[in-house]
Amino acid sequence: MNPHALEVLHRVFGYATFRGEQAAIVDHLIQGGDSLVLMPTGGGKSLCYQIPALVRDGTAIVVSPLIALMQDQVDALTQLGVAAAYLNSSLSAQAQREVEQRLLRRELKLLYVAPERLLGERTLELLERVPVSLFAIDEAHCVSQWGHDFRPEYRGLNLLHQRFPNIPRIALTATADAPTRGEIVERLALEDARQFISSFDRPNIRYNVVQKDNARRQLRAFLESHRDESGIVYCLSRKKVDETAAALVEDGIEALAYHAGMDQAARSSNQQRFLREDGIVMVATIAFGMGIDKPDVRFVAHLDLPKSMEGYYQETGRGGRDGLPAEAWLCYGLGDVVTMSQMIAQSESGQDRKRVERAKLEALLGYAEATGCRRQLLLGYFGEKAAAACGNCDNCIDPPRTWDATEVAQKALSAVYRTGQRFGVGHLVGVLRGEDNDKMRSWNHDKLSVFGIGQDLDARQWSGVFRHLVAAGLLAADHEGYGTLHLTETSRAVLKGETRIWMRHEAAKDERRAERKAA
Ligand code: ADP
Ligand code: ZN
Repeated sequence: MNPHALEVLHRVFGYATFRGEQAAIVDHLIQGGDSLVLMPTGGGKSLCYQIPALVRDGTAIVVSPLIALMQDQVDALTQLGVAAAYLNSSLSAQAQREVEQRLLRRELKLLYVAPERLLGERTLELLERVPVSLFAIDEAHCVSQWGHDFRPEYRGLNLLHQRFPNIPRIALTATADAPTRGEIVERLALEDARQFISSFDRPNIRYNVVQKDNARRQLRAFLESHRDESGIVYCLSRKKVDETAAALVEDGIEALAYHAGMDQAARSSNQQRFLREDGIVMVATIAFGMGIDKPDVRFVAHLDLPKSMEGYYQETGRGGRDGLPAEAWLCYGLGDVVTMSQMIAQSESGQDRKRVERAKLEALLGYAEATGCRRQLLLGYFGEKAAAACGNCDNCIDPPRTWDATEVAQKALSAVYRTGQRFGVGHLVGVLRGEDNDKMRSWNHDKLSVFGIGQDLDARQWSGVFRHLVAAGLLAADHEGYGTLHLTETSRAVLKGETRIWMRHEAAKDERRAERKAA
């Protein structure tokens, strides 16, 4: 290990040791090698180029797509006494000239630049007049058309290699499956770069999924177990963010709201309070979190389903960045599955995109309904094999008992079929339980063979059965938003008894949790 690098780590950043692959990456870059770094959010990517920037001669140029993020990083570095600045469209002409002057006077160790700015001839010429220590390309997946964040400006960055062939480059990203990784290498001409691929495992995060039954009560109970701790509660809609935050405040919890519909001043003031104060619960849409670097977030709760495993991983990854225990809690129910399917169906995306989105949602539902180790599933999704069950997720800690629900599933599917595939869960459960009401009689559903065949389960259990069937793709919701269910291609195999269905005992889980708490 380069002794200067360690010295800088201690003296400037105040950290005792490098984490994971950091040491190897820093060494490689200091020696002038190119690299591609794949490291999960919170893994510590910034130090990988910040330390070489301080050890090598000249100014490090950091390409970053997010203006807010640049500013945060520069502020943080300045506080540590590092000479850093940024160039982007948020600066006045005067301020830009000042930064350029500091660069020419060789005062800067790091300069953050927006890609479109970097590629302007004026900036390129400027860079040719000063010693550049390295180029860091943050969020490198933005160069990939198949990634979720494509930015055309990133395409031009291969020019760096042509124009500055002797200056080492490091490309960094937290999201890159193998095809995206390949595209990054190709687009940025990093064929000879060494690849550093870190595990995505966040062992200190405990994963926990609960079935929604009374979300507000469940959230309250969850927050009770995280009293006075900082955390984030994600909701799908702005309206729900506002309502949830208000309800929590009413309960005496220090909750703040954050979503893109709020005015800029309120948003940034809430964000600042969350970052600076202890024990604040931030209720937010996913607009919140990009670039939020708060080490002691102790929990991330989802009151609605995220859109994909990638989203879920990123959002939960904001917890426990300090390495201490954190909890990822997902509360979901049938309504969420239906809502998400409808959102996809009704979106403006083309057919191909919709197919991708549906596959992503299905993967997430598979995770939510899983009876085995959740971490294994999560890591498996990102192409990693986790050796053993983790011991730090709900299913490992409290293995769910499963039961053969094939017959019950057949009853549910028959009820859907016999009623013409145009009713929602409420009515279907009524049919199965043999409820006598006007709607039942007016449709003559009390005359059906399926009427009253499901009295052995209560309404809540039936609702769980339907949720499982929708999550497993054995039933699908209509696209118009009425919540009616219809059979799918795969339902037939269950109806014919060719596929067996296993479900978890849900009530049992809640009860056991309560017992553990009491003990
Ligand atoms: P990323 O960019 O990969 O999401 P960051 O670079 O923002 O991650 O780092 C995440 C957090 O981890 C930050 O709070 C950072 O200060 C901290 N960190 C990074 N490296 C170390 C280290 N070697 N020792 C202690 N803390 C570290
Ligand atoms: Zn596990």
